[in-house]
Amino acid sequence: ADPAVKIASVGGSAHPSIPLPRDIFPGRINSSGLDLADADTLAATSADILAFDEADALFGKRTTVKDAHDRYANVEVGALLQRAEVADGLAKLSVEDRAAILERLADLIEADRIPLMALCVREAKKTIPDALAEVREAVDFCRYYAIRARTDFAPVLLPGPTGERNELRLAARGPFACVAPWNFPLAIFIGQVAAAFVAGNPVLAKPAPQTPKIAAAAVVLAHAAGIPEDALALVLGGAEAGRALVADPRIQGVAFTGSTATARAIARTLLEDDSRPLVPLIAETGGINAMIVDSTALPEQVVADVVTSAFRSAGQRCSALRLLLLQEDIAEKTLHMLGGAMDTLVLGEAGDPRTDVGPVIDAAAYERLETYRQSQKARWVHALSTEHPGIVPPTIIRLDRIADLKQEWFGPVLHVVTWKAGELDATLAAVNATGFGLTMGLHSRIASTAERVACAAKVGNLYVNRSMIGAVVGSQPFGGEGLSGTGFKAGGPHYLLRFATERTVSTDT
Ligand code: GLU
Repeated sequence: ADPAVKIASVGGSAHPSIPLPRDIFPGRINSSGLDLADADTLAATSADILAFDEADALFGKRTTVKDAHDRYANVEVGALLQRAEVADGLAKLSVEDRAAILERLADLIEADRIPLMALCVREAKKTIPDALAEVREAVDFCRYYAIRARTDFAPVLLPGPTGERNELRLAARGPFACVAPWNFPLAIFIGQVAAAFVAGNPVLAKPAPQTPKIAAAAVVLAHAAGIPEDALALVLGGAEAGRALVADPRIQGVAFTGSTATARAIARTLLEDDSRPLVPLIAETGGINAMIVDSTALPEQVVADVVTSAFRSAGQRCSALRLLLLQEDIAEKTLHMLGGAMDTLVLGEAGDPRTDVGPVIDAAAYERLETYRQSQKARWVHALSTEHPGIVPPTIIRLDRIADLKQEWFGPVLHVVTWKAGELDATLAAVNATGFGLTMGLHSRIASTAERVACAAKVGNLYVNRSMIGAVVGSQPFGGEGLSGTGFKAGGPHYLLRFATERTVSTDT
């Protein structure tokens, strides 16, 4: 198969190569020149990635991945926080300085995209198009938050009685803990750090234990771009290190992306100590994301969008489709077409340019997903198979009721439930009753149905007649409600506000 065609069909809508409108984003937000639209570029990029040698790579022309990683390997949270609390280097920077640093960081990430993509492929098992999307999103976060910071952090004069000057300012909060997931080890890691830093906070950033090298490379680049050394440190380790970080009373806020259970544990920890200040938790967690398809939907479009939403990135996105809700009249035909489309997916190594679905993140994830998948064998509608180690074959499982899906399965496993004409409201109510509210998809050609769903669906991101992954920074602010997160949305106009505190200064003139 021609790889260029595959990317267009399977991953088309995630990060379109079309530049974002310049009037919304002055400057260059969506990394121009970063494109895999043709097969030659893809093959060349893939060859560069395979040839990449970690021992030689000098991120920001500074240090190797190993040195960067080892520098933080045995540092204690307490020692890092001591430096962060003072953060002399940070105190000297204005908002404009911080915004300019983020823009420099965006440039450095673009320049080092091949080593960064290579790390994403090796450490996070990303396919090459996903690794590129990762780099682009990281760049977009930096540029977008730089633009936002200049507006958000400008003092606002408020009306008041004559003889009085009232000014509303945003001020930094203090040391921020940023806890990132392995599924977007560069983009979400950088997004959290960029937001916390540009708001004026020192940052202690904890990557997932699966992806420390990508994070180390990102921190090297951030320092090279001008984030002072005392204002950004890496906290390496697992759950224990994460707990120690958020339990420290010097932490003034937490940005977290990961599971609902961990978000809840963090919230508890933040409230444990009565003498501790009340600090914000910005959490983006999982979802039981549904796509509702009615009998007016365009079948080919539905099939393409289901394949992308459920199986791209091996289903390892918070936004991914978990529950396909087909109107009964079109169910069998749609599932038949879907099976045919699934059969064209290439399962293979992450670094192979032909791969559509690569391995899941680690052996534990594989075991969990595979055990579940096998336990549901009697309900399989369609399942691929492979001998390739670590790959969970894309599978569709039929359920009787929405409520039968009790949890998020973070992999390429899709569930399907049918509904009858006249049951749209009940279907929506059952989806809302899961308590999760991250993404939802709708395929319908009836405008009033779209409006009805938009009003009733308790989700952060609703996608109508398109795929439901790949939110674009600045265009589709991303994040959920209910069990799926606290807001504010990443890549949206209000995100930075939670990283700051508001201060009103009223002066008698
Ligand atoms: N923003 C990503 C998307 O829209 C998902 C982020 C996540 O998985 O945490 O696909």
